[in-house]
Amino acid sequence: MDDCEHFWVNISSKRQRAWQCSHCGELRLDDPTQKREWVGLTDEEYEAMAEKHVTNCYFDTLTYARAVETKLKEKNHG
Ligand SMILES: [Zn+2]
Repeated sequence: MDDCEHFWVNISSKRQRAWQCSHCGELRLDDPTQKREWVGLTDEEYEAMAEKHVTNCYFDTLTYARAVETKLKEKNHG
């Protein structure tokens, strides 16, 4: 039985992200083949957000970009 609560120490190298438990020595590797789900925005969402940032004939590129970034972060980190 492994009842170690694991205290992960980052032992990553340039080629491999890895952690080792300083208590029991267990290794945990970040498997690059493991799919990392990245949630993007749909075309509709991009368009809806873009519309919010158009005032008269002026498009506020920077706030639009930041809004998109914020939205992406929300989607990908809960
Ligand atoms: Zn451990």
